[in-house]
Amino acid sequence: MGRRALVMIPGPIEFEPEILESMAFPTLSHLDPVFLEDFGKALELMRHVWQSPSGQPMVIAGSGTLAMEAVVANVVQPGDPVLVLSTGVFGDRFEDLLSRYGASVTVIRSALGHGVDWERVEQELFTGDYRIITATHVDTSTGVRVDARRLGETARRHDVLAVLDGVCSVAGERIHQDEWGLDAVLTASQKAVGVPPGLALLVIGPRMLERFRARRTKVPNYYCDWAKWLPVMASYEDRKPSYFGTPAVNHIRALVTALRRIQEEGLDARFERHRRLGNACRCGLKALGLEIVPVDLDNAANTLTAAWYPDGVDGPTFLSAVRRAGVVLAAGLHPKIAPAYFRIGHMGATGPGELLATVGAIEIGLSQCGHKFESGSGVAAAQSAYWGG
Ligand code: PMP
Repeated sequence: MGRRALVMIPGPIEFEPEILESMAFPTLSHLDPVFLEDFGKALELMRHVWQSPSGQPMVIAGSGTLAMEAVVANVVQPGDPVLVLSTGVFGDRFEDLLSRYGASVTVIRSALGHGVDWERVEQELFTGDYRIITATHVDTSTGVRVDARRLGETARRHDVLAVLDGVCSVAGERIHQDEWGLDAVLTASQKAVGVPPGLALLVIGPRMLERFRARRTKVPNYYCDWAKWLPVMASYEDRKPSYFGTPAVNHIRALVTALRRIQEEGLDARFERHRRLGNACRCGLKALGLEIVPVDLDNAANTLTAAWYPDGVDGPTFLSAVRRAGVVLAAGLHPKIAPAYFRIGHMGATGPGELLATVGAIEIGLSQCGHKFESGSGVAAAQSAYWGG
């Protein structure tokens, strides 16, 4: 077994060789005309992928958490009431982050595996005087997807700003940032966009920029301050040199390659491929007698699947057996249920080949753990679901 294992976790994902190769070049000056073109192109392509012609794209070296922090640091002022919709660990992360910036945070926390109770959200927005609402499009700890269109529409109706954590969804799940009225949509490079970890990616809408410009106090975070970054992004888009903090030159070349590939595949085709992969994964697991964490299929993400271990299967033993069969999966993450479930990522360039290999390795892991099922039935179900519907 010379080949390294297939990495099927919900990020970092398997990266396409063309994307990896594109970042292997002698690093240029961040003021080199070739890099100005790379950075400018990356920003333009982000508007396309986020479907946000009116948005301001921003690329900063860092991870998804930095993208979350950038939004909070720039638009929240002490005492601001913020409503957080939490469907797992990453919704809770927003609560922690917001409270550190002095926001007055109210959390509507969904029961484990459940989606958002929108009636409760409506009620809360009627009674409270909120300025911002946040949601996690796909919470990577539960595999629950929330209705991002409804988030935007609800926010517009109540005149609050909508922030979407799209770390596990952008370029995998459908998002129309402008049309849906989302004021910030953020992600990290290592997920469905398909670039190695290292970039915080964010598109800011006009209402959010207005809110930022109207703030009365200094942004309390130096590295994240949009007053520093906005002129830099504008210059690069004009293909003019600029500097605040050194950009991740090689990663940004890879980002252009990745965004071009997304554009070439076509957004609709890409979302449809992810839908088929998500469905095939769920069907494969079901055939093996496994159940998923999201309670309602409509709320199940297409970028990752979180599944309960069947009775008698020990998590660490199973994951090691799957790893020996050539596939790396992720353990549970939600602290309340971590030992009871595992997670499979299927986003980015993943296709049916990787998915079938994964379901095959899961079969090997389950049989080594003593779980009874008809050998090959998971792979067959995943295959017919992918090609059949
Ligand atoms: N939000 C979501 C939904 C995530 O899945 C993650 C990462 N798993 C983050 C935020 C944080 O991103 P990062 O690990 O890149 O800081």
